[in-house]
Amino acid sequence: MQLSDIKQRLHKLGAKPCHEHYLLQNWLHVQPLGSGRGWKKYPPPKALCTALPEIEKELQSLTQLHSKNVGEDEGTRLLLKLADGQLVESVLLPRKSLCVSTQLGCAVGCLFCMTGKEGLLRQLSSAEIVAQVVLARSLREVRNVVFMGMGEPAHNLENVLDAIELLGTLGGIGHKNLIFSSVGDRQMFKRLPLGRVKPALALSLHTTSAKMRRKLLPQSPDINPIELVELSEEYARTVGYPIQYQWTLLKGINDSREELENIVKLLKGKYAILNIIPYNQISSLNFKRPSWGQAEMMASYLNQQGVFTKLRNSVGQDVDAGCGQLLARAVELVE
Ligand code: SF4
Repeated sequence: MQLSDIKQRLHKLGAKPCHEHYLLQNWLHVQPLGSGRGWKKYPPPKALCTALPEIEKELQSLTQLHSKNVGEDEGTRLLLKLADGQLVESVLLPRKSLCVSTQLGCAVGCLFCMTGKEGLLRQLSSAEIVAQVVLARSLREVRNVVFMGMGEPAHNLENVLDAIELLGTLGGIGHKNLIFSSVGDRQMFKRLPLGRVKPALALSLHTTSAKMRRKLLPQSPDINPIELVELSEEYARTVGYPIQYQWTLLKGINDSREELENIVKLLKGKYAILNIIPYNQISSLNFKRPSWGQAEMMASYLNQQGVFTKLRNSVGQDVDAGCGQLLARAVELVE
């Protein structure tokens, strides 16, 4: 079920725009659908009143809590059951943040990510993406939403943008607190600035070498890092908030002196933050985590050279959360 299906159904039941507005707002804020002052002020048609319990049930069945795994580091993984029985995960993070999934599986196939190993199973609908936020709000307040769970949002662009528009309007979430996390995609760069709600962008860069990037992110669009940064910079200047570049630090792969110098050439003077994230080692994958000391030295060098760099600690790591290596640090993006 898409958000557009819900709206169409309401329309068929005789709902006016004000009824649609109040009903969706109630859903997004975990209130009974037919409650509130607006609803009393503009009494809905009888057919809509009669259908409300059924609509409420259908919306609830979009995501149901299957299990909850509380991590020691404040990340709480929610495994949610969708209406077709598939399981998807969201992660509750500190500072009223939530990380949501946008696809079941992922087609990008990043070599260092377990989600990528399974490939893409199916897209999540716009309503399923929003329903993850509604379910999390039934557990606690959510003010920041990071699209960094399972999946690549740019590969499910229209559904993700529909969800973002609703969350940034009736959902009451600040536009820069909606964070679209992507490997980068030309269509995405065209579409994001056109939306009524323009999210912040976190871009998974990982290396300055086009050849290495191709290896590490085999199914990502063929855009070299120079062009990626140009496109991102344009977006950052349009929306007025910086790009968060993500750099999963892999020992012996993207931690060389040459990479550091190329990062300076690429990002110095850009409206950006570089997040260095030491790799979270997984026994079944062959990548190694560099020492924290080395990561600190790199971050310090980059800051001295004028590239605003943060070394990110992990949240959600011990609950084996989400989009490979990145989700664990998603909350840091909404500081
Ligand atoms: S790291 Fe993210 S984009 Fe890459 S394969 Fe995993 S889920 Fe997909």
